[in-house]
Amino acid sequence: MNDTNLKYDVLIVGGGVVGTALLYTLSKYTDIKYIGLIEKYSDLGMVNSAATKNSQTLHFGDIETNYSFEKAKSVKLYADMVMKYLENEKKSDYEQKLFSKYSKMVLAVGKSQVDDLGKRFLTFSQLFPKLRVIAREEIGKIEPRIVEGRDPDQEILALVTEDGYTVDFKKLCHSFVDNAKKGNPEISIHLSTKLLKIVKGKDYYTIKTDKGEIQAKTVAIAAGGHSLLIAKSLGYGKNLSVLSMAGSFYTAPKVLNGKVYTIQVAKLPFAAIHGDPEVHNEKITRFGPTAKPIFQLERHNSSTFLEYWKTFGLGLSPIISLFKIIFDKVLFNYIVVNILYDLPFIGKRLFIKQIRMIVPGMKMSELKYARGIGGTRPQIVNNTTRKLEMGEAKLIGDKIIFNITPSPGASTCLGNAYTDTAKIIEFLDNKFKFNKEAFEKDLM
Ligand SMILES: Cc1cc2nc3c(=O)[nH]c(=O)nc-3n(C[C@H](O)[C@H](O)[C@H](O)COP(=O)(O)OP(=O)(O)OC[C@H]3O[C@@H](n4cnc5c(N)ncnc54)[C@H](O)[C@@H]3O)c2cc1C
Repeated sequence: MNDTNLKYDVLIVGGGVVGTALLYTLSKYTDIKYIGLIEKYSDLGMVNSAATKNSQTLHFGDIETNYSFEKAKSVKLYADMVMKYLENEKKSDYEQKLFSKYSKMVLAVGKSQVDDLGKRFLTFSQLFPKLRVIAREEIGKIEPRIVEGRDPDQEILALVTEDGYTVDFKKLCHSFVDNAKKGNPEISIHLSTKLLKIVKGKDYYTIKTDKGEIQAKTVAIAAGGHSLLIAKSLGYGKNLSVLSMAGSFYTAPKVLNGKVYTIQVAKLPFAAIHGDPEVHNEKITRFGPTAKPIFQLERHNSSTFLEYWKTFGLGLSPIISLFKIIFDKVLFNYIVVNILYDLPFIGKRLFIKQIRMIVPGMKMSELKYARGIGGTRPQIVNNTTRKLEMGEAKLIGDKIIFNITPSPGASTCLGNAYTDTAKIIEFLDNKFKFNKEAFEKDLM
């Protein structure tokens, strides 16, 4: 940062997919001129938005059986925006390869799951008209390894659709920024610039970074789990804590042609274990993610240990919430097994049992633990209700917004940007215009 006295109308903190989607929306669809973004790493999308850190899935809610109808409805609206953006980009720059498209299905195994999935289809097909119910024969045509070696008496059923988007969300960050610059050449991106402290003044926030000070009339914090830490430093979100749920993956040579999800226990806020082709290499199938608690805000970054505990909160209340949540029988058993999946020797032997629900003939020699792959989801713990919340959280303060983004935060990035843009215009006393019509025409 050369200029030590920078002033913006809007400053975005965090260059993941949520921050860059907002930058894109503000630049392309509003007349706000002075917009800045700071990112602590030397590149965009290095944390949870990196292709190696998440499941690369554009979640719509059609095959995610842990979503209620209402949740699926809202996620679909937002995921459709990303889908439109991706398809528009493909037309204008085919070489970019932001995504690949495959079939995707959710597979029910055994009578009870088959009955439940059949019932789910009756409701969810209203929202997803392209979803089809398929039985063993057609499942085998689309995904032969699901049927090969399976007990012929075992009941199976699947819901399938062609709209299986596998997205490189890091590349999407870059695409958002490139297009933002076309919309507004005045925007400034400060990489390798870390927010250290934020202070509220009369008309401006002062953002102290390791490269100097920035002033901004309004601020949007899109720093993943760190958003809650920053919120707490300003007195917001005091009743919230974070449970950092790391997800690991196993890989195998291509055993599936598309995405195959298993049925999730409704209580759990995580996508069930699934198999997907790698976004840039369909010859590799990735299985996961697992979910185990870690005491870091960023996976594979031990310097975020203290930050985690500051975000979690040191009082009695978060500890009581944690015990209440973790000692729920379903969650407790789930977490214990998921911790074991990461252990050498035993992990693979346990995890293969899950995978054999999808690919019964999977061999031990085919499966490999994907070292260094997988980020961590900042799941919100509400210390008032003592419950683990299902998805993303947003805190609105005085001319400041904080986005905390577990899954499906990448799928909902443009919908989130739409909401934040409307709020920012309000923060700036409606002196600027948000061209919602153009946004809706392009992306809805
Ligand atoms: C295992 C796993 C699987 C997932 N699968 C999916 C999926 O299939 N589909 C889906 O939609 N979502 C998925 N998610 C969730 C998704 O990855 C996140 O919701 C999404 O990437 C969040 O984007 P973000 O921009 O908020 O966060 P991030 O990508 O983490 O970006 C936050 C940025 O803020 C920066 N930052 C933090 N602190 C500071 C600071 N003090 N100063 C400056 N910069 C700072 C960080 O460096 C980082 O670049 C998954 C997550 C995990 C962990």
